[in-house]
Amino acid sequence: MDTSKKNNPVYSHTDTSKVNLSNDEWKKILPPEVYYIARMKGTERPWSSKLEHFYETGTYYCAACGHPLFKSDTKFDSGCGWPSFFEPIGKNNITYAPDYSHGMVRTEVKCGRCDAHLGHVFEDGPPPTGLRYCINGVVLDFKKNENETKKQDEKLKKN
Ligand SMILES: [Zn+2]
Repeated sequence: MDTSKKNNPVYSHTDTSKVNLSNDEWKKILPPEVYYIARMKGTERPWSSKLEHFYETGTYYCAACGHPLFKSDTKFDSGCGWPSFFEPIGKNNITYAPDYSHGMVRTEVKCGRCDAHLGHVFEDGPPPTGLRYCINGVVLDFKKNENETKKQDEKLKKN
């Protein structure tokens, strides 16, 4: 857990109980850029996320509450400027809501545990789902697969 989480009492990779906090409460525990996207439904600048071209093996978690959201093997290079996935880690890990803002009809994608705004899903993704989950990198935490890390450590020890 990095230090930006030390003031966040709800952050957990394993607790699946719903989180219901007011925006005032969230504001106290989230870094401003995470609050802006997760709670104010903001959007990060395209091509600004270091996770856009990032292909390590592991799991992506909600940066607001730590809930698992996506696995690295469902990530693909969509060229749209935001980290993109074709499938969530589990059916109930994210929720959907219609979004009519900015004169468009889109489907908003939210964290299934804390309701954080994550991004949108579009129907122009690759097989097998045909979906493109277009997600703000700011609201994603990445954690390397433990086994993968161990393998690399062993390799380093041998060399
Ligand atoms: Zn969350």
